[in-house]
Amino acid sequence: MIILKTPGELDLMDEANAIVQRVLDGIDERVAPGVTTAELDSWAEAIIREAGAVPAFLNYKGFPATLCTALNDVIVHGIPDSRPLEAGDIIGFDCGVIYKGYYGDSARTYAVGEVAEGAATLMRVTRESLELAVQQVRPGSRLGDIGHAVQSHVEKHGFSVVRQFVGHGVGTSLHEDPQVPNFGRPGRGLRLKPGMVLAIEPMVNSRSDKVSMDADGWTARTKDGGLSAHFEYSVAVTSEGPRILGVAPEVQTRIADVECLATSVS
Ligand code: MG
Ligand code: MG
Repeated sequence: MIILKTPGELDLMDEANAIVQRVLDGIDERVAPGVTTAELDSWAEAIIREAGAVPAFLNYKGFPATLCTALNDVIVHGIPDSRPLEAGDIIGFDCGVIYKGYYGDSARTYAVGEVAEGAATLMRVTRESLELAVQQVRPGSRLGDIGHAVQSHVEKHGFSVVRQFVGHGVGTSLHEDPQVPNFGRPGRGLRLKPGMVLAIEPMVNSRSDKVSMDADGWTARTKDGGLSAHFEYSVAVTSEGPRILGVAPEVQTRIADVECLATSVS
């Protein structure tokens, strides 16, 4: 069942996601060689609680941390640890909060120091695929338009879209209907309506899309050892188009500028 949100609920979800964006911006300032993901996790938990929110992933089905990490070949759902980050690593952070009963959910992948050109390209293409997908979020478009926007951009660059994990509706639960695949055919699938909120989250592998699970039961990594990148926004469908929840107006404006992005990613 898809739960439509009122404009007042969207404003609360915007506040929840603004807390998530503050955490992800802070990580951007702190990620560096020698820093550990456990340190960043403690910092993130403190920021979230100071903001009057609760870490949404902590204890979710037994997950032991505030942030999900994704180091190099990890796709999603890694557990923060005491390994110091090294120059050349790419590291994903996924952050969720609960604020006044509503969930915020967003993720980014970061470069640690200088990274190889291929790693930088993988991150850029993944972020662009999310932005192209966001531009499809408007009343009347279909879930297949979102998936196709991601898949076509990713495959054009020779990368692969993970199929085992998908995006999702979000609201008063972390995972609501519908599922939001990062692949699909234009004009197919559920039709979007104002008030839907979708967490769109492309997970993109440098080689095959196949997934292997670690013995911890959480960490999902590429089966072939290739790199993986992940970016996520929670996006509301409004009659004016996509509303990326929690982001600064200049980010919203840049991503909504379809022509500008279309020329820069050709
Ligand atoms: Mg997430
Ligand atoms: Mg999510």
